Amino acid sequence: MRMYDAIVIGARCSGASTAMLLARQGHRVLVVDRSTFPSDVISTHFLWPHGMSYLNRWGVLDQVLAVTPAQTTIKVVNDGIPLTGSVPVDLLREYFRDLHGDDTGVVQSYASIRRRVLDQILVEAAAKAGAEVRTGFAVRELIRDGDRVVGIRGRTADGQTVEERARIVIGADGRNSFVARTLDLPKYDERPKCTFAYWSYFSGFDLGPAQLHRRGRLASAVVPTNFEQNMVLVWGPSEWSREFRRDVAGNFQRALDFVAPEVGEVVRTEGTREERIYGTLDQAGFLRPLHGPGWVLVGDAECFKDQCTAIGMTHAFRDAELVAAALGRWLRGEVPVDEAMAGYESRRRSQNAAAYYDYVCTLAEMRPYRHDELQLFVALRGNQQETDRFIATHGDVAPVSEFFQASNLFLLNDAAKESSAGHAIFDDFAATSRSYQQNLFA
Ligand SMILES: Cc1cc2nc3c(=O)[nH]c(=O)nc-3n(C[C@H](O)[C@H](O)[C@H](O)COP(=O)(O)OP(=O)(O)OC[C@H]3O[C@@H](n4cnc5c(N)ncnc54)[C@H](O)[C@@H]3O)c2cc1C
Repeated sequence: MRMYDAIVIGARCSGASTAMLLARQGHRVLVVDRSTFPSDVISTHFLWPHGMSYLNRWGVLDQVLAVTPAQTTIKVVNDGIPLTGSVPVDLLREYFRDLHGDDTGVVQSYASIRRRVLDQILVEAAAKAGAEVRTGFAVRELIRDGDRVVGIRGRTADGQTVEERARIVIGADGRNSFVARTLDLPKYDERPKCTFAYWSYFSGFDLGPAQLHRRGRLASAVVPTNFEQNMVLVWGPSEWSREFRRDVAGNFQRALDFVAPEVGEVVRTEGTREERIYGTLDQAGFLRPLHGPGWVLVGDAECFKDQCTAIGMTHAFRDAELVAAALGRWLRGEVPVDEAMAGYESRRRSQNAAAYYDYVCTLAEMRPYRHDELQLFVALRGNQQETDRFIATHGDVAPVSEFFQASNLFLLNDAAKESSAGHAIFDDFAATSRSYQQNLFA
């Protein structure tokens, strides 16, 4: 039987990327997925500039940009307070130097890339790098030697049962990870409060760069994507989801009209919906152990969190680069496996990573913004540098703890006192405040 250096289960953002990076180092890699490609997966597929930078570092960004629109500025409107900015290049460089030791390939643009486009490019890049790719292959068992995972048993598309062995098995198999379930890995730091999200694809209008709107306990996003369409998304607190679901199409438009009336108007009068409305009700966050004897987890398998900051794919790329670097050192015989995995773990379990996980999970509760938070957004309007830093913080480029540290907020709030006077938020403020209390879809 052929012995691989690594078997990767899952061939999307985390799996195909990890397989590609390990194969480029010259290792023998098998990557399997029960899906066939091109295909979509439940995702609204927004990629932050550091996500795009990973693609550029790996030499596949041009392929993406050939078919996908990209921009640098983002408009964020919180309870009627508009902010426009971009993730600063110097913060992107700092991010890569801190996490990966070099800042090659940094780009400032973001994009919304359909998964049927992106995942196909990644699978092809893995194959081109020399990884053996088997799609339509469902892993049914992990082969163990004592407590060590040493291989997989699975079924091919034509119904054959196949067994393969490797020095390490990488679970890149998503939030319902087969590897995690089979090994009975616990979930911890679970965050049951999350958002419901519904989205679809519309042609017929061009609203420019991405817009994110939040009003009361609801939010919406409009981002140009492939095939000259726009991804239009609404989300809100999961405790409102049952009522929302009673009339998905009606409530989708109702939510848009409430959160961003001008966007709702364009979608209603100029937009043609090209696909059905997709939705998800459960995005409860959790962490799982990162590694053990003969196995390691990457991407959603190890850490799942709500879509409200659109970060999972970028994090999957981050994990791929970190784990491939760590495993490469071990596979080349430079360090023992424990030392390699401890290096991966220390980067993945940093204070910054924990703070960002908490930031996402707290936002996902969709609590109304407090007065001091709204004041902060007003203060940012006069300060482009801090607006850009806020956007970078929201996208996990800059550390949450630095932007939200008391001294920074104090300075900004001081400035807010001067700039907030007379700032117009929604005319119908009473409706916004009512929405803090009442389920709009009840
Ligand atoms: C509603 C929603 C919106 C989102 N929007 C965004 C966004 O805008 N931006 C963003 O960055 N992230 C977003 N995310 C998160 C993002 O989709 C995930 O973080 C990302 O897909 C994780 O990639 P992954 O490779 O780890 O897992 P996945 O993409 O889930 O891929 C796992 C793969 O493993 C395969 N697999 C599983 N079990 C087996 C098995 N037993 N045998 C063989 N193959 C197997 C599956 O077929 C699948 O192809 C969103 C998530 C949700 C739910």
